[in-house]
Amino acid sequence: MPELPEVETSRRGIEPHLRNKTITDVIIRQHKLRWPIPKNLPALATGQKVRQICRRAKYIYLKLDNGCIIIHLGMSGSLRICTKHTTVEKHDHIDICVSNGKILRLRDPRKFGCVLWTADDINEHKLFKSLGPEPLDETFDATYLRNKAGKRSCSIKSFIMNSHMVVGVGNIYASESLFKAGINPKRRAGSVSLARFEKLVSAIKNTLIESIEQGGTTLKDFTAEDGQPGYFAQKLLVYGRKDEPCTVCGSPIKKLNQQARSTFYCSRCQK
Ligand SMILES: [Zn+2]
Repeated sequence: MPELPEVETSRRGIEPHLRNKTITDVIIRQHKLRWPIPKNLPALATGQKVRQICRRAKYIYLKLDNGCIIIHLGMSGSLRICTKHTTVEKHDHIDICVSNGKILRLRDPRKFGCVLWTADDINEHKLFKSLGPEPLDETFDATYLRNKAGKRSCSIKSFIMNSHMVVGVGNIYASESLFKAGINPKRRAGSVSLARFEKLVSAIKNTLIESIEQGGTTLKDFTAEDGQPGYFAQKLLVYGRKDEPCTVCGSPIKKLNQQARSTFYCSRCQK
């Protein structure tokens, strides 16, 4: 599943091909994604200039003068820049064609992604309204998290994965960040001190930044026509390493289930 770093890498990859270009056509081959693609999207978007290519949480949106096209990659979606000579494959559901001859193409075999339209303030859209801050924003800091945590009894792992608290901390990033911060994933969110939240916030930021930078090097050529989705393998310290030695103390990494998701941690390093 594309996580925040892959989405941000996708945004950076498509941006130079689309910014300040006029949309010349929108071709919809499959309306039925997670929600139907609006039938009037071609009429609304054609002739409009793409002013900005933005990301919020795991959504990418193209800002036009009359509204925004919102894109989510769901479980299996990927974005590529093609031309009209690029063969259309089975799961290529929508093309957004722009004035330089480039095409933004969404491929999504499992169809859990979406392409939507809004003419209103994007931050008031129902998908965006209740989202917490971006993890890489300055507003996301230890004081913010400590206040939000209050006396909460949920685990620290589910707390940081809750998109009302902060967006984009997926399952892998939660395990990795808690390991770097030395915090046991089962610990109650309300029992984490401000000093430990400082460590956790920088661990989350560093983990995501490293991953975005790695994606940038892996995905230099966004126009590659091999059809490979742009997901990348990451250097992981605990995630997926059950029974392997901890990189810090050598104890075997443990695995447990929290909210039906796998958590990996070192019981000696994480308290
Ligand atoms: Zn350890």
